[in-house]
Amino acid sequence: MLASKEGSHTELITLYVPPGKQISDAINLLREEYGTASNIKSNVTRKNVLDALVRVQQRLKLFKDPGEKGVVIFAGALPQEGGGGPGTERMETYVISPPEPIKIYLYRCDSRFHTEHLQEMLREKETYGIILVDASDATIATLQGKRLDIVRQMYSGVTGKTRAGGQSARRYERLRDQQLNEYFTRVGRHADESFLPIDTLKGIILAGPGPTKYDFQKGEYLNYQLKAKILDVVDTAYVEEQGVKEVVEKAPEIMRKVRYIEEKQLMQKFLYEVGHDTGLITYGEADVRRALEAGAVKTLLLSEGLDVNRVTVKCGACSYQEQHTVKGQLLVSFEQSLVGKACPRCQAPSLATMEKQDIVDDLAQMAEYSNAEVEMISSETEEGQMLKNAFGGIAAMLRFKTQT
Ligand SMILES: [Zn+2]
Repeated sequence: MLASKEGSHTELITLYVPPGKQISDAINLLREEYGTASNIKSNVTRKNVLDALVRVQQRLKLFKDPGEKGVVIFAGALPQEGGGGPGTERMETYVISPPEPIKIYLYRCDSRFHTEHLQEMLREKETYGIILVDASDATIATLQGKRLDIVRQMYSGVTGKTRAGGQSARRYERLRDQQLNEYFTRVGRHADESFLPIDTLKGIILAGPGPTKYDFQKGEYLNYQLKAKILDVVDTAYVEEQGVKEVVEKAPEIMRKVRYIEEKQLMQKFLYEVGHDTGLITYGEADVRRALEAGAVKTLLLSEGLDVNRVTVKCGACSYQEQHTVKGQLLVSFEQSLVGKACPRCQAPSLATMEKQDIVDDLAQMAEYSNAEVEMISSETEEGQMLKNAFGGIAAMLRFKTQT
């Protein structure tokens, strides 16, 4: 979501503070940048950059130190969907605790947020194994993030098919079967050795130009745990390294397909609970929020297409504040509705939106506090469409019943 955001100008701030770095150093750096930014010629851009720098400093001051994994802050004025032209951008600030320790100290002011270091962390966790096999040779490789490693290259030594007929042909076929069996055993053993020690192995893709790969799959050559991890069997035009590269090109498509299957299974589980009235599910924002607060949520199911925000409205005159849930396309009119409206506590017409958070982030954060799993469900499957349309895009599977 952050990666797709684009500023109107070079005015979006990215800051990575790694563990071990002093917060005060980072604040000093921002002060220097503030000085430099004061020279920006365009009024609008200057104001936006200075505002963003202040926001980042404010957030940073909330930390005593960057912690074990560091802190990443994004801030900037962003054009709003359905909002007017230049000058109507809104300041958005995001503070991220990375999943792994960050290794760089980075400050950027750009027309986009620099999220690639975070994205790399997410990607690199998962490893895929590739077994490319045909009658003449086999290649074993691993794919971690964008890193492809050819682990092993083997030749079969299996003799080609013969055109001879009769007795000698049968003997020849028997010999060939023996050789193939020996070759498959070898491939299986090397695949076991290469893949079994990988804790993060997400799945295996079996590939090759001919039907040989299916023979390999049918036999008992691969460790049963690994065999269960075969995600897909794909055709390639080539063997060896070139064939492996073909698989890598197809990998995103394969992973998407695999994800759809996972999503379908999750939703089917949810729908089963709905159908059998087990009381172990809930849906709709309010009920899911309550269940999260009660620590009852096991799995949170969120529709990917949800464009809903959690908005904090504050009174400028007293300390009154309230929260609202507002759809993305209604944000502008929601804000307009606050103009001139009296504060319920002090009656001053000083209500304004202070903070806006994507509801997905808001709920995901609550889920994190209660150790619930979060599953983003696309609308690409029929079940995903149901989540979006019939259940408002927000649902949960529960650890225990919350209502009687
Ligand atoms: Zn007030």
